[in-house]
Amino acid sequence: MTLGSGDFQTDRHGWAELLPERRASRPLRGACRVAWAVIGAGVTGLACARRLAELHPDREIVLLEARLVGQGASGRNSGFVVAVSHFDGGLEADEMANYRRVNRINQAGLDLLRAQVATSAIDCQWREDGFHHTAADRLAMSKCSDYLRYLEALEIAHTPLDAAALNARLGTALYRVGVHVHQGALLQPAALVRGLADHLPANVRLHERSPVLGIENGAPLTLSLPNGEVRADKLVLATNYEAAKLGYLSRHLIGITLSGSFTRVLGDDELASLGSQGEWGVLSLHGGGATLRLTADRRICLRNAAEYNGAALLSEAQLAARQAVHRAGFEKRFPKLAHVPFEYAWSGVEGISRNGTNFFGRQGDNIYLAGGYNGSGVSRGTAFGMALADYASGGQSPLIDDCLASAPGAWIPPRPFLDIGALLTVRSRFRGVGLDR
Ligand SMILES: Cc1cc2nc3c(=O)[nH]c(=O)nc-3n(C[C@H](O)[C@H](O)[C@H](O)COP(=O)(O)OP(=O)(O)OC[C@H]3O[C@@H](n4cnc5c(N)ncnc54)[C@H](O)[C@@H]3O)c2cc1C
Repeated sequence: MTLGSGDFQTDRHGWAELLPERRASRPLRGACRVAWAVIGAGVTGLACARRLAELHPDREIVLLEARLVGQGASGRNSGFVVAVSHFDGGLEADEMANYRRVNRINQAGLDLLRAQVATSAIDCQWREDGFHHTAADRLAMSKCSDYLRYLEALEIAHTPLDAAALNARLGTALYRVGVHVHQGALLQPAALVRGLADHLPANVRLHERSPVLGIENGAPLTLSLPNGEVRADKLVLATNYEAAKLGYLSRHLIGITLSGSFTRVLGDDELASLGSQGEWGVLSLHGGGATLRLTADRRICLRNAAEYNGAALLSEAQLAARQAVHRAGFEKRFPKLAHVPFEYAWSGVEGISRNGTNFFGRQGDNIYLAGGYNGSGVSRGTAFGMALADYASGGQSPLIDDCLASAPGAWIPPRPFLDIGALLTVRSRFRGVGLDR
């Protein structure tokens, strides 16, 4: 099947719609010859292109983005910049080195983003005082005990919280136990990637609305686009779950569609009812539980739906239907705000591997790839993108070693087994979720 421009869906339902208009870069037209091409301008591709530009100041790096910056998962996530990963299941002694490895990668990405946001004065509502991990129902409560053991074993700064303390901080009586992990940042995801894209080094040339439709091997590699062609010595794929469209990882990475809603801007009294923090982020201790934010611009943002939709965004009709699920999650937590309407709904697709691993390294002659972060890719994708630039340039570093140590991806069967498997995976995500959804 031939790939076309129409295979890169966009919509007007995302965090970008909450931001002012931005002038996009021009689509690629004609032929060009470069040393480096990077495909995909999400956090991975942006970090990779920036680092390549630093490493090769005399070379031009072309960054090709099929959509507008902010339309991919990097502009459609919940905006948690994770330092400390939450691993499902109890603390396993022989996994300690792995926990530490993943958290080192997360921390490297967080540090990098913090520096870039500060240096380029990116207005993305950056707030760095960690997140709350919460439990309302039985299964999540048992996971809370596991998580506390993990935090203690790894000596990660945290504050355990009971129902009263959570209510005082967040303004909801739903949660029975939880923990505040002190590391981690919250941000407006579309504002972050737009800001990063608008402050790229001078030797990076970004082209938006420039889908790569095919890659021809050879030296140089040839990339075909709707109105042009790029010939490059080296290529980086930062295409997340869409690598399969170009023939990569099709049996290892799939796209699961998540969706959520934003309220309108809250009034002073409504805001005052939401605890003492002014702004906060809540991650559920159950993998199927709701992710919530009280954002800097005074909205509640809740995401509690996930489904296999053929790696596509939800249609208008699907989004409208999912709002009932979002609404139930919202009113259950904030009955006193039941009168507050939702103003936006949005969906996004995350790249999932069957065994929860991430992908990093060489994919062929002069072709490199990083991606597939299973719903936790803002910090990790940034670190992977930067490390991949170093690795593809022949460098060595402890961060590269950490990224290379990712487990190999488990095999995913073709359709129709894929559809059944994906359906069962999503179903198992919600097993026992109860009140936490
Ligand atoms: C709803 C949702 C909530 C999430 N919440 C969080 C969270 O709070 N914290 C967190 O850490 N992670 C979260 N994630 C995951 C996180 O968003 C991703 O892991 C991360 O953004 C992946 O970054 P990326 O750059 O690898 O991929 P993407 O951001 O998907 O970027 C890949 C880019 O490649 C482009 N592309 C693909 N194919 C081509 C092609 N052929 N030609 C040109 N361009 C192409 C795409 O248009 C896209 O912009 C969430 C994901 C979703 C969907």
